[in-house]
Amino acid sequence: MPDTFHPRIAAHRVPYTEPNGRTTYELVIECPYCDRQHTHGEPYGFRVPHCDTSARTLPEHLKLEDVTGLPQYELCSPADIADEQADRVTAKLLVLRNVRDRLRREVAVEPYSARARRTHAAKVSRLGEITKVLTAAGVAG
Ligand SMILES: [Zn+2]
Repeated sequence: MPDTFHPRIAAHRVPYTEPNGRTTYELVIECPYCDRQHTHGEPYGFRVPHCDTSARTLPEHLKLEDVTGLPQYELCSPADIADEQADRVTAKLLVLRNVRDRLRREVAVEPYSARARRTHAAKVSRLGEITKVLTAAGVAG
């Protein structure tokens, strides 16, 4: 995948009432990387993903480093996006690549106890599955 990739994501304008009573709008998206909801200010355009500012709410299978340093996404009006699924799949592959790289680092450390051996074996198995998916998708490395 090109390193100029930026997922184009439909952002929904949601009214927000400020403490002074004034109404402004926020752009709300379902994040293509972590699947959580992120809120950005207007206008539409490129943004640094907020995944790493919501580490507490990351899905269980993700760690902070898996969603750090990912490309900016482009917030678009829903009317301007015919189909964002391809971009969402590519975004997921980037996250999966980070997960693979993390698991490679983690399994390089020899387990030191029976419990650590079980965790290690599960990580090796997961690493194998992820590698298969990334290879099938043509993601190098
Ligand atoms: Zn996110």
